[in-house]
Amino acid sequence: MYRGAGANGSLGRMRRRITGYHRDEEHHCVAELDCGHNQHVRHNPPWVSRPWVTTEEGRAGMLGTELDCRKCDRGEAADRGAPDARPPVPGGERR
Ligand SMILES: [Zn+2]
Repeated sequence: MYRGAGANGSLGRMRRRITGYHRDEEHHCVAELDCGHNQHVRHNPPWVSRPWVTTEEGRAGMLGTELDCRKCDRGEAADRGAPDARPPVPGGERR
């Protein structure tokens, strides 16, 4: 995987606040950030240690906390907040 040239720290990182949560189709916890992006917040030890995501109290306590938003770093479009982006097609799915 590509990594930056020794950049170790917050340089170039977008810090975004957690405004809420939801579950994805696989019941993983997804944090909703104030930039409009979603970010998975798994507790998957030993690789990812986020014991706070496993409890409602923990998640509530992390509201307002800032996470690095890699989607902002990459300039990706927001995951939500654009209701006109994909209007529903009357009469079913079409390509
Ligand atoms: Zn973002």
